[in-house]
Amino acid sequence: MSSVALRSRADRGAHHLEPDHYGRSVLGHPLEVWRSSGKCRLLIFASIHGNEGETTSALSLALRHLAAPSPHCAVVLAANPDGLLRGTRGNARGVELNRNFPTSDWQSAPVLHRETMDAPRDAALSPGAAPGSEPETQALISLVRELEPEAVVALHAPLECIDDANGSALGQWLADRTGMPFVRDVGYPTPGSFGTWGAEQGVPVVTYEFPLITPDDATRKHVPVLVELLTRMPTDG
Ligand SMILES: [Zn+2]
Repeated sequence: MSSVALRSRADRGAHHLEPDHYGRSVLGHPLEVWRSSGKCRLLIFASIHGNEGETTSALSLALRHLAAPSPHCAVVLAANPDGLLRGTRGNARGVELNRNFPTSDWQSAPVLHRETMDAPRDAALSPGAAPGSEPETQALISLVRELEPEAVVALHAPLECIDDANGSALGQWLADRTGMPFVRDVGYPTPGSFGTWGAEQGVPVVTYEFPLITPDDATRKHVPVLVELLTRMPTDG
């Protein structure tokens, strides 16, 4: 049962709820958060990797389904707006934000990623000059500390899994609901990642990895799951 009225398809083309700002990016763009009407129990963010814009599009459409703010869920459509605008994985300084969090295992070595799923992992980005060096990282940490959510859902692509180190009920629900594999880790080290930071801070993080997917399929398969997350806490039964 949803406690939030949903808008019709005809009405949900544009945002009608207003975000707050929780900081500014390197280029000075506002970091936007759509706050919950009640106590924040869940924070969902997309596009900490600027080249994963399909997660922003899907989360935006899910948010635009709601006639009123989510009762329990805060939403960040783009944790890395500069990367999203410029089409880069990193921020405007070329920093891989998901390796910039102040964790015990943070590393100064370049971060290697793949341009495509079948390419070698040889494209280098910086993890930042120091742990937590980037304004987008600092702002997201401050937001989590302020909101004190029960869990954070981080949207990524395209590994097609629900990655949850805690094996939580929320992670299991997402795996069941999406039909994607439920895993405890992604199979390679992620020093300085948001998930590692959350684990060290006692903030449960579930990583929701879209598959390789067309925008149409993302809308059909994943927007309904995100609408459910925004309208009710699935683990409340
Ligand atoms: Zn990602």
